[in-house]
Amino acid sequence: MPLILITNDDGIDSPGLVALKQTLSRLGDVAVFAPAHSWSAAGHTKTMHKPMRVRRGALADGSEAWVTTGSPSDCVALALLGILDRRPDLVVSGINKGPNMGEDVTYSGTVAAAMEGVVSGIPAIAASVDGWEGWDFEPAARVVEQVAREVLARGLPAGALLNVNVPALPYEALKGVLVTRLGRRVYKDVLIERKDPRGESYYWIGGDPPDGEPLEGTDFWAIKHGYVSITPLKLDLTDYALMESVREWNLQLAR
Ligand code: MN
Repeated sequence: MPLILITNDDGIDSPGLVALKQTLSRLGDVAVFAPAHSWSAAGHTKTMHKPMRVRRGALADGSEAWVTTGSPSDCVALALLGILDRRPDLVVSGINKGPNMGEDVTYSGTVAAAMEGVVSGIPAIAASVDGWEGWDFEPAARVVEQVAREVLARGLPAGALLNVNVPALPYEALKGVLVTRLGRRVYKDVLIERKDPRGESYYWIGGDPPDGEPLEGTDFWAIKHGYVSITPLKLDLTDYALMESVREWNLQLAR
């Protein structure tokens, strides 16, 4: 039986985690390592300056899970560095409350946890459901089960992961599955300044939910039109096309 490591960034109490665990249990043994609270937008974090705790806990359906004080990517690292007695065959992170498309992937704790699996040479899937409230995780869980079955059978190239976004629709209403590229987010962030009880300013980054450019071929287009979006991502962020141009700057050290 393959072993699937499951985590998320919404924390141990998220129903998205339960839906994922229940469907992926059909494919193999599962181990759940989740943060104690929400780490949404935590990015790829490594806790280095304080200790972490790991305790036995339970999901909402009563099944066994590990709960950690670390970030989503810490959860994967803790599991892989020895708390699991077996190396997983697949890491799956989610199902996130809300989409992770375009530049979101650089903020996302959900995607970062999948990246941590890839750093250790394990294929990984990040999964998110669209919408800003009232999520139904069952359709997305069914989709992720299908994707996970393929990844277990076929593997992924070293350094790659799949970023899966699912529209907030009933399974039967989904139009199909598109393999997409990352689109461009349009953030609507605004700076909100308040005063603390001593009269000093503090700040929140607030504003309306972000939008995206729905260009054909992108994750945004797929979700807007009712398709599941699967974007293959690489941890190698090198801009190969730009290398030659920067070489042509002919930068020399002063001697
Ligand atoms: Mn989240």
